[in-house]
Order: sequence, then C-alpha cells, then structure tokens
Amino acid sequence: MRALIAGNWKMNTLRRDAEALALALVDLCRNEGDPGADLLVCPPAIMLQAVGAITQGTPVALGAQDCHTAESGAHTGDISAAMLADSGCSHVIVGHSERRANHGENNAMVKNKAAAAHGKGLTSIICVGETLDQRDGGETLAVITDQIAGSLPQQVTAANSVIAYEPVWAIGTGRTPTIQQIAEVHDHIRSLLTKHTADSAAIRLLYGGSVNPGNAEEILAIENVNGGLVGGASLKAEDFWAICGSSAQ
Ligand code: PEP
Repeated sequence: MRALIAGNWKMNTLRRDAEALALALVDLCRNEGDPGADLLVCPPAIMLQAVGAITQGTPVALGAQDCHTAESGAHTGDISAAMLADSGCSHVIVGHSERRANHGENNAMVKNKAAAAHGKGLTSIICVGETLDQRDGGETLAVITDQIAGSLPQQVTAANSVIAYEPVWAIGTGRTPTIQQIAEVHDHIRSLLTKHTADSAAIRLLYGGSVNPGNAEEILAIENVNGGLVGGASLKAEDFWAICGSSAQ
C-alpha cells in the first residue's frame, strides 16, 4: 500500500514561515519527482488559506489539526469540518493526544469529530496512543482497544479514515518504541479494524512519535505501518522530504 506521510505543524509557523515551507515542499516535488509516498501538510488553521494557495494542484495535500462536531453555530473559536472542506482541506487530524490532554477530548468527542469530517467528505486521521504510565503498567493493548472502540464512528472506510498510533511518551521527546513494540500495536489495530469495516486491510495505519530522517526507513518498513504522522521533523522541508522518500512501499 502506498504510504501517507502527514506533517503536523502544530502551533508553529508565522505566515512567512508557513508559505516558505509549503513552497519548499512543492519545489521538491517538482524538481525531485515522486518520493514514493503521498504527502500531506497540516498547518495551523489560520494558515490554511495561505498554504492552500501554494499547494493547490500539487501533490501536497492539505489537512487541518482539529474540527468541531457541529456544522455551524455558537461555538466561539471553533472551526467546522465544512469550513475546512471549503478551505481546500482533504484531511483532518482528530483526537491528537495534545487535544485529548489539553482540551479534555474523550473518545466520544473524537468519534463525533471524525463523523463530522466524513459528513463533509474529509478523511479523518484518528489518533490513538498510550501514556508512559499505561505502557509501564502493561496496559498498552487494552488502552488501544478502548480508544479504537470508542473513537471510530460508523461507516469507517479506507477512503474516509486513517488511524495514527502515537505513543504519548514518544511525541516530541526523541524517544521511539522498539520496532517490535510498534509492530505489536499496529498488528493489534489491524485486527481490531475487522470489527469496524469490511475493508480493514486497506485502511492506512500511520506511526507517529519522534519520526525523523534517521529512523523513518526502519519504521516505515514494518508490516502494517503504512506511513507516518510527523511533528517536529515536518517543520524542515528537507527532513520531511527525506522521510517521504524513506517509504519502501
Ligand atoms: C505529532 O505531533 O503528531 C508528533 C508525532 O510529533 P513529533 O514527530 O514531534 O514527535
């Protein structure tokens, strides 16, 4: 399966940085050709218009980092899936651990956000992952089972959903799980997905957590790892490009 490499820019970049990063990626695509993976960038919401103006019509797809469950209404500061679609997004990340921790998002909210995204034709990138305490307590697979059961809406398909496994303790820390640990969780998620959809084998499973050009090839070669969700390393065009070129599929 062709890999998806998604860059989560988080709350980084001012407009000139966002435009320069997008331009650099578009130039790399033009000059270097197909890296062998699908590329997606998820800038801060306020940068979507500026970045979208640069990426539109190029191989670099545009995504957002969150959406509200409602289509419109009295939700000050929030952004709907309809607005994201209207701004040129094809994807939206939902349930990132930073949203779960900082904004109290639980599985039910994540599920409703994913459903809202699907309703507007967006592909949701649904994030799951255990904390360090949960990993140390031997609860990883149980936590993932619970998050997958609670965060996936009805009618999940390979076209409308991507699952990202992101151990909370690996995000932004420079620590990564072992290859065996990643493989174990991805195999587990793949088997859980059979309860949700007939095309479970075709759903992309991304690994996220301190992916960089030095470890990407080994991680992306794991069976049932179909791409990466990249934070810090997605802020440098050369690093992100190198990760995109590390996919063997
Ligand atoms: C992320 O934010 O989704 C992430 C994986 O971050 P980092 O690559 O910086 O660990």
